[in-house]
Amino acid sequence: METSNESYCLETRLIHGIAAPKNENGATITPIYYSTAFEHDSAESMERIFQGKEDGFVYTRLRNPTVAALESRFAAVCDARGVVAAASGMSAIALALLALLKSGDELIAGRFLHGSVYTLFDKSFRELGITVHFIDPRHPEEAAARFNDRTRAVFLEALANPAMVVPDIREFSRLCREQGVPLIADATLLTPCAFDAAALGVSISVYSASKFLAGPATTLGGLIVDNGTYSWRDNPPPGWADLVKQHGESAFLAKLSKRMMMDYGPALAPMNAFLLLLGLETLSLRMERQNQTAERIAEFLNRHPIVREVLYAGLPGAPGHELAKAQFGGRFGSLIAFTLASRAACFRFLNALRLIRRSSNLGDTKSLAIHPASTLYAGYWPAELAAVGVGEEMIRLSVGLEAETDIICDLEQALATAAKC
Ligand SMILES: *Cc1c(COP(=O)(O)O)cnc(C)c1O
Repeated sequence: METSNESYCLETRLIHGIAAPKNENGATITPIYYSTAFEHDSAESMERIFQGKEDGFVYTRLRNPTVAALESRFAAVCDARGVVAAASGMSAIALALLALLKSGDELIAGRFLHGSVYTLFDKSFRELGITVHFIDPRHPEEAAARFNDRTRAVFLEALANPAMVVPDIREFSRLCREQGVPLIADATLLTPCAFDAAALGVSISVYSASKFLAGPATTLGGLIVDNGTYSWRDNPPPGWADLVKQHGESAFLAKLSKRMMMDYGPALAPMNAFLLLLGLETLSLRMERQNQTAERIAEFLNRHPIVREVLYAGLPGAPGHELAKAQFGGRFGSLIAFTLASRAACFRFLNALRLIRRSSNLGDTKSLAIHPASTLYAGYWPAELAAVGVGEEMIRLSVGLEAETDIICDLEQALATAAKC
């Protein structure tokens, strides 16, 4: 589960990890260990494994060989201290934060958030007695003003879904270092192909693996990455003395895998870990192509007379463009938001689509579109919609792997329909 090796390039590590693992019977792909429990040679060995003194498998809620293969592959991809996999992106985010926060503690969060994450912070965390201060991630000074001795972490979307806002991650990382608290970034929209978390000073990255990492919408999954940039020894959260004494710099990973997973139980299923390992093998190719097509489609939309505004950091002159270029290695993801004249025009546009699917997912191999205000953010008050950067006139488009010309053709005819009243 823990590794540190950067000798192969990212593209190679996505396929082989640090080094191609030797599988049973010479299988060239990681086998699926569909076993809930594992047996042991002796009572003594069982005792040692249960006490964590010897490496081994006990019960799939805690550890499973296929899931462990995914964790070590992804740790190699990110050149991370270690990775813990969870059943979904939401469980990964909840677990990572609940490992750090308890009643009375405070979190500072960029307010441009995925709908479920916003609700988790605003409703569920509030009910647990955790205070979340929402700030504008374009203004790190708003975060600076919120730190106090109860602040346990800062959370940002590295590229915000669907507002496409780009925070200055290095500046947030500097602030967090100054305050001695970890910086957590959700980099679902970028993937490790466009997000070098350690270089940007991010302590912990979280991913919804259900999106780009899985690829063709086969499975839910979440990944928590300890990037090795935060010293748990130098800045342990309150009450972590024993944990740090026992596990040193692996304290956060140990808390996740030994406590959080044990107590809350959102384990990733072995089959789903297998599907995510398959997804990783083609990730860099897919990201490259989807990024490239998205850039051209953003330009097409930007030129289109009935499109009011295009939110895509890849457009020269777009807000956050220079920052995104510097931070994300010249990649901007394949998610685009754009606005039409009205909610009715958005609905006419969606209903006219023939190739692009009406779906809530993103990062899929298929192109997908949705009207976020009436779906993902249904039930939000207007002020809340404004806070997360979602308008009634907004469409979110996730650009897939289809031929660019076919996607543009579909957009062209659907926009023509949207323009008719
Ligand atoms: C989808 C998504 C999540 C939630 O992940 P699930 O796998 O659906 O639970 C969290 N953050 C972002 C940015 C997402 O796009």
